[in-house]
Amino acid sequence: MAHDAPAAAGGATKLAIRNIGLILSGDMQNPILAGDSVLVENGRIIAVGKAKDLDLEGADTVIDAQGTALAPGLIDSHVHPVAGDWTPRQNQIGWIDSSLHGGVTTMISAGEVHMPGRPKDIVGLKAMAIFHQRMYAAFRPGGVKVHGGAPIIEQGMVEEDFADLAKAGVKLLGEIGLGGVKDGVNGHKMVEWARKYGIQSTIHTGGPSIPGSGLIDKDVVLEVDADVVGHINGGHTALPDSQIRCICEGCKRGLEIVHNGNERAALYTLRTAKELGQLERVILGTDAPAGSGVQPLGILRMVSMLSSLGDIPAEIAFCFATGNTTRMRKLDAGLIQAGMSADFVFLDKAQHSAGKDLLDSVQLGDLPGVGMVVIDGVPRIQRSRNTPPATRIPDLVKGKLG
Ligand SMILES: [Zn+2]
Repeated sequence: MAHDAPAAAGGATKLAIRNIGLILSGDMQNPILAGDSVLVENGRIIAVGKAKDLDLEGADTVIDAQGTALAPGLIDSHVHPVAGDWTPRQNQIGWIDSSLHGGVTTMISAGEVHMPGRPKDIVGLKAMAIFHQRMYAAFRPGGVKVHGGAPIIEQGMVEEDFADLAKAGVKLLGEIGLGGVKDGVNGHKMVEWARKYGIQSTIHTGGPSIPGSGLIDKDVVLEVDADVVGHINGGHTALPDSQIRCICEGCKRGLEIVHNGNERAALYTLRTAKELGQLERVILGTDAPAGSGVQPLGILRMVSMLSSLGDIPAEIAFCFATGNTTRMRKLDAGLIQAGMSADFVFLDKAQHSAGKDLLDSVQLGDLPGVGMVVIDGVPRIQRSRNTPPATRIPDLVKGKLG
């Protein structure tokens, strides 16, 4: 199975998608796009619109969407990968490929913290981060883009360490609080160094995740001021509502809700963000693999849970798992618009859902069915082995799975 972008593999490619029933853009400002077709060249979106207005002729890959919905590939903002597509946490092989069957095309590492024998000395943790960045840049399980190489920071790191990491290609910090740095003063100093060299940061929020990790409360979260308030609904244990409110009101950073956290706290965060008129800050992750398991449908389940119980239109809930994360993480996928990577998930309401269409079914709390996933303009899978069966699925009229 080829995992490189088609452009990198050599030769021009053209993908035409037609008969789309609904186009979800991923952009909260304009979540539903007019049109029934998308044109892709060399793995990037060229145009979105009506078939009669687009140059769809001569494509080497043609998909007839059969009236299904097209959404950007989903982004899991919080995972803990270790090596290739294996996790020692739940001793499972193929967990990333399973998430692909849940519509996920991009994953962001919040630290390779489950690595057996993980080095905690500064030279060792830097080396491991660089190794993971390289490994996942070169290896895409099932085609999924894993942004790996997220060091867990430790006491004693100096500015030069962050400059070295950035120079070597590291772009993320693992969750602050999982290592020896658990205080506001040191955490803030290191986040500022990271930011100076273009490295994004996330902080663990809430009670300890596993024996050995610690409590990170609102005072530490606000003082450290990382780019993303990681699992604000706890991973697993949430802060009290009053502290969640303080975090939402006390900063403008990303509010990350995870599947592995407290669902009541997730809904409290959502309501608070809505009340503040700041839903654009909400992004989604699974925290998988975790004690609660590997969650191949975790992002879809969050979209459905937040939409149905949080009273959010489904087309907006999909933005939490796509465009919001794209903006916050500075990604080149997660929006259906010209110039972005052609990463798509085709969805339809599950067979026998009480909903009248895809959006209605999600608003009623059902999971949608995935009928196809495309990454970099290449169809990767057809009917998902993991979601409930979609009512309709797209037809790969021309071309083959990559
Ligand atoms: Zn955590």
